[in-house]
Amino acid sequence: MKQCAGCERTDALVRVATRSGASGPGITLYACPLHLPEYPPLPGADEIALIESVTHARREEESRQRRGQGRRRGGAARS
Ligand SMILES: [Zn+2]
Repeated sequence: MKQCAGCERTDALVRVATRSGASGPGITLYACPLHLPEYPPLPGADEIALIESVTHARREEESRQRRGQGRRRGGAARS
């Protein structure tokens, strides 16, 4: 059931955050207008997708660079 993250209100709630668990579905938090300042609203779905894709691309690049350096440093003897 939907409930404010700061009190027990169940009406006039705004979705404020989604915490994705390692297993199973993520937890969605809601806040009433009173507690909304403590729990900033979620960015739009498009923004989330954008952030995730940017983060993912950055991580990919970092691991690629790391792998590349490793190969250059250690793999010279073998061809
Ligand atoms: Zn509240």
